[in-house]
Amino acid sequence: IVKKMGGNHYRFYDFELEELIKEEQKIENDLYHAIEKNEFKLVYQPIRELATGRNVGTEALIRWTNPLYSKVSPLVLIQIAEQNGLIIEIGRWVLKEACRQNKQWQKEGYSSVIVSVNVSAIQFEQTNFVEMVKEILEETELEPKYLELEITERIAMDRVEEKLLKMKELKSMGVRISIDDFGTGYSSLAYFTRFPIDTLKIDRSFINDMLNDENAKTIVTTIINMAKSIKIKTIAEGVETWEQLEYLKKKSCDQIQGYLISKPVDPHIIVEMFEEEILTN
Ligand code: C2E
Ligand code: MG
Ligand code: MG
Ligand code: MG
Repeated sequence: IVKKMGGNHYRFYDFELEELIKEEQKIENDLYHAIEKNEFKLVYQPIRELATGRNVGTEALIRWTNPLYSKVSPLVLIQIAEQNGLIIEIGRWVLKEACRQNKQWQKEGYSSVIVSVNVSAIQFEQTNFVEMVKEILEETELEPKYLELEITERIAMDRVEEKLLKMKELKSMGVRISIDDFGTGYSSLAYFTRFPIDTLKIDRSFINDMLNDENAKTIVTTIINMAKSIKIKTIAEGVETWEQLEYLKKKSCDQIQGYLISKPVDPHIIVEMFEEEILTN
């Protein structure tokens, strides 16, 4: 086949590769200026406590408002930013904006909720990470207990002692720590008893499958029960149906997050939800 296409094949390939590289460089370049141009915003997704039906927290999620990139998934954006180091600056902006917004809601008189902020492994590994969190909490005057940092299992895979120390420092400040997308990595829950974790977020894929797949169901109930036995809270991610909600409630999962309650929304919509506090139980 290669012979048949001859030189053309390669020229075609080179051309595409060149375009792809140009495209990536353009994204990188535009990403580089996105903070100063005020092109990022945070949307918030409510986290609901099953026992009370109250929204007890929100997760802050980044959006790039540049119309050229409205369809770029935050996962891709974060991945590019991790590759070129921009994640440090973007991560700092996200953390500060989320803390500022949460404090703002409190000043406006809404009952206090926890804001959860995603932290990239690269960001967490920065030597001054703990110091930065402390500075931002001071600047925004948010009480540490209203901030939860979401890290992934990946963080606990290497240089464990160093990271354990950081987590302990954060805990002693009063900041909460959760493990995001739990179950997708290779760590066991037993392994995490070493870490000062407040919350496990059960990955969406298990929640999605659990009512049709016995294995997923077993994984979900096992995570909930084991977490409970070591006094760690569980949040089910990606809850989309009432059936899922009822099942999770029956199994004593603490909190849920997902499109059933709300998609991630702008701050003024979250405020409307605080006002309504629709009870699900
Ligand atoms: P994540 O932290 O696990 O966030 C949850 C993702 O699941 C969000 O996607 C949310 O919109 C989506 N989701 C929530 N409920 C449902 C549901 O019921 N069904 C479905 N299909 N999806 C649901 P999003 O906002 O696209 O973010 C994707 C990922 O990008 C996040 O996953 C997180 O890993 C990363 N990310 C987003 N914002 C940030 C950020 O500010 N910093 C860092 N480091 N990563 C971020
Ligand atoms: Mg998250
Ligand atoms: Mg998650
Ligand atoms: Mg996820």
